Amino acid sequence: MPLLSSTPSTFWTGPFGDGTHLYRPAPDVVLQQKYPFVLPTLGYETNALMPALNAATVEAHYRSVHASHVQALNTALTAHPTLHEYSLGQLLMGLRRWPEAARAPIREHGSAHANHALSWKVLAPGAATATAPNGRLGSMITRDFETVDACKAALREAALGIEGNGWAWLVKTATNRLAVRTLPNDDSPLLDGELPVLGIDVWEHAYRRMYQTQRAGYVDAVLARINWDVVGAQVE
Ligand code: MN
Repeated sequence: MPLLSSTPSTFWTGPFGDGTHLYRPAPDVVLQQKYPFVLPTLGYETNALMPALNAATVEAHYRSVHASHVQALNTALTAHPTLHEYSLGQLLMGLRRWPEAARAPIREHGSAHANHALSWKVLAPGAATATAPNGRLGSMITRDFETVDACKAALREAALGIEGNGWAWLVKTATNRLAVRTLPNDDSPLLDGELPVLGIDVWEHAYRRMYQTQRAGYVDAVLARINWDVVGAQVE
Protein backbone atom coordinates (compact mmCIF):
# COMPACT_ATOMS: atom_id res chain seq x y z
CA MET A 1 0.00 0.00 0.00
CA PRO A 2 1.44 3.36 -0.96
CA LEU A 3 2.60 5.48 1.94
CA LEU A 4 0.51 8.41 0.83
CA SER A 5 -2.49 6.54 -0.52
CA SER A 6 -5.05 8.60 1.39
CA THR A 7 -3.55 11.87 0.22
CA PRO A 8 -4.68 13.64 -2.95
CA SER A 9 -1.98 13.29 -5.57
CA THR A 10 -1.77 17.05 -5.95
CA PHE A 11 -0.67 17.28 -2.35
CA TRP A 12 2.96 16.58 -3.13
CA THR A 13 3.37 18.64 -6.26
CA GLY A 14 5.42 21.81 -6.26
CA PRO A 15 8.61 21.59 -4.24
CA PHE A 16 8.60 17.81 -4.46
CA GLY A 17 8.29 17.50 -8.22
CA ASP A 18 5.90 14.69 -8.99
CA GLY A 19 7.08 12.87 -5.89
CA THR A 20 6.82 9.54 -7.63
CA HIS A 21 9.64 7.92 -5.71
CA LEU A 22 8.04 8.94 -2.44
CA TYR A 23 4.85 7.05 -3.22
CA ARG A 24 6.59 3.77 -2.71
CA PRO A 25 5.82 1.98 0.55
CA ALA A 26 8.07 3.25 3.31
CA PRO A 27 10.22 0.31 4.37
CA ASP A 28 11.02 2.17 7.57
CA VAL A 29 8.01 1.83 9.86
CA VAL A 30 9.20 4.80 11.87
CA LEU A 31 8.35 6.98 8.88
CA GLN A 32 4.80 5.67 9.16
CA GLN A 33 4.44 6.59 12.82
CA LYS A 34 1.93 9.30 13.65
CA TYR A 35 1.60 11.44 16.77
CA PRO A 36 2.24 10.46 19.51
CA PHE A 37 5.61 9.20 18.30
CA VAL A 38 7.39 6.41 20.13
CA LEU A 39 11.00 5.41 20.53
CA PRO A 40 11.40 2.19 18.53
CA THR A 41 13.04 -0.74 20.24
CA LEU A 42 16.72 -1.06 19.51
CA GLY A 43 16.35 -4.71 18.58
CA TYR A 44 19.59 -5.67 20.31
CA GLU A 45 21.44 -5.15 23.58
CA THR A 46 23.36 -1.91 23.95
CA ASN A 47 26.64 -3.85 24.04
CA ALA A 48 25.82 -5.79 20.87
CA LEU A 49 27.67 -3.39 18.59
CA MET A 50 31.05 -3.92 20.23
CA PRO A 51 33.76 -3.36 19.25
CA ALA A 52 32.46 -0.64 16.92
CA LEU A 53 30.33 1.06 19.57
CA ASN A 54 30.38 0.30 23.28
CA ALA A 55 27.36 0.07 25.56
CA ALA A 56 27.88 3.49 27.15
CA THR A 57 27.94 5.15 23.73
CA VAL A 58 24.83 3.37 22.48
CA GLU A 59 23.05 3.82 25.81
CA ALA A 60 23.56 7.58 25.91
CA HIS A 61 22.82 8.08 22.23
CA TYR A 62 19.69 5.95 22.16
CA ARG A 63 18.15 6.49 25.59
CA SER A 64 19.13 10.13 26.03
CA VAL A 65 19.60 11.77 22.65
CA HIS A 66 17.15 9.82 20.48
CA ALA A 67 14.53 9.51 23.23
CA SER A 68 14.66 13.22 24.01
CA HIS A 69 13.99 14.08 20.36
CA VAL A 70 10.92 11.85 20.37
CA GLN A 71 9.68 13.52 23.53
CA ALA A 72 10.38 17.02 22.21
CA LEU A 73 8.58 16.25 18.94
CA ASN A 74 5.52 15.08 20.83
CA THR A 75 5.59 18.10 23.11
CA ALA A 76 5.77 20.47 20.15
CA LEU A 77 3.00 18.75 18.18
CA THR A 78 0.61 18.63 21.11
CA ALA A 79 -0.34 22.17 20.17
CA HIS A 80 -1.01 21.21 16.52
CA PRO A 81 -3.81 18.63 16.45
CA THR A 82 -4.34 19.19 12.72
CA LEU A 83 -0.95 17.56 12.16
CA HIS A 84 -1.75 14.40 14.09
CA GLU A 85 -3.17 12.68 11.03
CA TYR A 86 0.16 12.86 9.19
CA SER A 87 2.95 10.35 9.38
CA LEU A 88 6.50 11.30 10.27
CA GLY A 89 7.49 10.84 6.64
CA GLN A 90 4.71 13.16 5.50
CA LEU A 91 5.54 15.75 8.14
CA LEU A 92 9.16 15.88 6.96
CA MET A 93 8.43 15.83 3.23
CA GLY A 94 5.76 18.50 3.55
CA LEU A 95 7.53 20.79 5.99
CA ARG A 96 6.76 24.09 4.32
CA ARG A 97 3.05 23.33 4.29
CA TRP A 98 2.68 23.19 8.07
CA PRO A 99 1.94 26.07 10.45
CA GLU A 100 5.09 28.11 10.86
CA ALA A 101 5.36 27.42 14.59
CA ALA A 102 5.46 23.68 13.92
CA ARG A 103 8.17 23.75 11.26
CA ALA A 104 11.25 24.19 13.44
CA PRO A 105 10.41 21.38 15.88
CA ILE A 106 9.43 19.03 13.04
CA ARG A 107 12.62 19.85 11.19
CA GLU A 108 14.80 19.39 14.27
CA HIS A 109 13.15 16.65 16.30
CA GLY A 110 11.24 14.87 13.55
CA SER A 111 14.38 14.62 11.47
CA ALA A 112 16.41 13.42 14.44
CA HIS A 113 13.81 10.76 15.29
CA ALA A 114 13.76 9.41 11.74
CA ASN A 115 17.54 9.58 11.34
CA HIS A 116 18.43 7.84 14.56
CA ALA A 117 15.81 5.13 14.08
CA LEU A 118 17.34 4.29 10.70
CA SER A 119 20.89 4.45 12.02
CA TRP A 120 20.19 1.88 14.76
CA LYS A 121 18.47 -0.41 12.33
CA VAL A 122 21.23 -0.58 9.74
CA LEU A 123 23.91 -1.69 12.19
CA ALA A 124 24.49 -5.43 12.53
CA PRO A 125 24.51 -6.61 16.17
CA GLY A 126 26.35 -9.51 17.71
CA ALA A 127 28.94 -11.47 15.85
CA ALA A 128 28.05 -9.59 12.73
CA THR A 129 28.48 -11.51 9.56
CA ALA A 130 29.57 -9.20 6.83
CA THR A 131 26.84 -8.77 4.28
CA ALA A 132 27.21 -7.18 0.90
CA PRO A 133 24.69 -5.12 -1.04
CA ASN A 134 22.65 -7.23 -3.40
CA GLY A 135 19.34 -7.10 -5.22
CA ARG A 136 18.11 -3.68 -6.27
CA LEU A 137 20.56 -1.87 -3.99
CA GLY A 138 23.48 -3.81 -5.40
CA SER A 139 22.45 -2.90 -8.94
CA MET A 140 22.02 0.75 -8.04
CA ILE A 141 25.45 0.89 -6.37
CA THR A 142 27.07 -0.68 -9.41
CA ARG A 143 25.31 1.81 -11.68
CA ASP A 144 25.96 4.92 -9.59
CA PHE A 145 29.31 4.18 -7.87
CA GLU A 146 30.69 1.22 -9.87
CA THR A 147 31.77 -0.62 -6.71
CA VAL A 148 30.65 -1.01 -3.11
CA ASP A 149 34.08 0.15 -1.96
CA ALA A 150 33.70 3.33 -4.01
CA CYS A 151 30.29 3.92 -2.45
CA LYS A 152 31.72 3.43 1.03
CA ALA A 153 34.68 5.67 0.23
CA ALA A 154 32.35 8.45 -0.91
CA LEU A 155 30.33 8.13 2.29
CA ARG A 156 33.52 8.11 4.35
CA GLU A 157 34.88 11.20 2.65
CA ALA A 158 31.58 12.99 3.14
CA ALA A 159 31.45 12.01 6.82
CA LEU A 160 34.99 13.19 7.47
CA GLY A 161 34.44 16.46 5.64
CA ILE A 162 31.52 17.66 7.74
CA GLU A 163 32.35 20.65 9.87
CA GLY A 164 30.41 20.70 13.11
CA ASN A 165 27.27 18.64 13.59
CA GLY A 166 25.74 16.74 10.73
CA TRP A 167 25.20 13.47 8.94
CA ALA A 168 26.64 11.88 5.82
CA TRP A 169 23.91 10.26 3.76
CA LEU A 170 23.38 7.77 1.03
CA VAL A 171 20.06 8.83 -0.48
CA LYS A 172 17.74 7.87 -3.28
CA THR A 173 17.12 10.97 -5.34
CA ALA A 174 13.95 12.12 -7.05
CA THR A 175 15.32 10.61 -10.26
CA ASN A 176 15.77 7.24 -8.55
CA ARG A 177 19.54 7.34 -8.31
CA LEU A 178 21.83 6.86 -5.35
CA ALA A 179 23.83 9.88 -4.22
CA VAL A 180 25.94 10.92 -1.26
CA ARG A 181 24.90 14.04 0.62
CA THR A 182 26.02 15.87 3.69
CA LEU A 183 23.35 17.60 5.72
CA PRO A 184 23.82 19.86 8.75
CA ASN A 185 22.56 19.17 12.25
CA ASP A 186 19.94 16.41 12.10
CA ASP A 187 18.27 17.54 8.86
CA SER A 188 16.57 14.60 7.17
CA PRO A 189 17.05 14.01 3.43
CA LEU A 190 13.24 13.85 3.33
CA LEU A 191 13.19 17.62 3.83
CA ASP A 192 14.70 17.81 0.33
CA GLY A 193 12.41 15.14 -1.05
CA GLU A 194 15.12 12.47 -1.03
CA LEU A 195 14.79 9.06 0.57
CA PRO A 196 17.29 8.24 3.34
CA VAL A 197 19.03 4.97 2.55
CA LEU A 198 22.00 4.98 4.95
CA GLY A 199 23.09 7.70 7.38
CA ILE A 200 26.23 8.23 9.43
CA ASP A 201 25.82 10.52 12.43
CA VAL A 202 28.99 12.53 12.99
CA TRP A 203 27.81 14.57 15.95
CA GLU A 204 30.44 14.15 18.66
CA HIS A 205 27.86 12.51 20.89
CA ALA A 206 27.86 9.59 18.43
CA TYR A 207 31.51 8.67 19.02
CA ARG A 208 33.32 10.90 21.52
CA ARG A 209 33.09 8.46 24.44
CA MET A 210 34.99 5.81 22.49
CA TYR A 211 36.94 7.58 19.82
CA GLN A 212 37.52 11.00 21.38
CA THR A 213 38.27 13.20 18.37
CA GLN A 214 39.14 10.31 16.05
CA ARG A 215 36.12 10.54 13.79
CA ALA A 216 37.76 8.43 11.10
CA GLY A 217 38.05 5.45 13.44
CA TYR A 218 34.37 5.71 14.23
CA VAL A 219 33.29 6.09 10.62
CA ASP A 220 35.39 3.11 9.52
CA ALA A 221 34.02 0.96 12.34
CA VAL A 222 30.45 1.86 11.44
CA LEU A 223 30.97 1.27 7.73
CA ALA A 224 32.41 -2.15 8.53
CA ARG A 225 29.31 -3.02 10.56
CA ILE A 226 26.55 -2.16 8.12
CA ASN A 227 23.81 -4.71 7.60
CA TRP A 228 23.40 -4.24 3.87
CA ASP A 229 20.30 -6.42 3.78
CA VAL A 230 18.55 -3.86 5.96
CA VAL A 231 19.93 -0.97 3.93
CA GLY A 232 18.75 -2.71 0.77
CA ALA A 233 15.19 -2.82 2.08
CA GLN A 234 15.17 0.97 1.95
CA VAL A 235 15.21 0.93 -1.85
CA GLU A 236 13.07 -2.14 -2.55
MN1 MN B 1 22.90 11.58 17.13
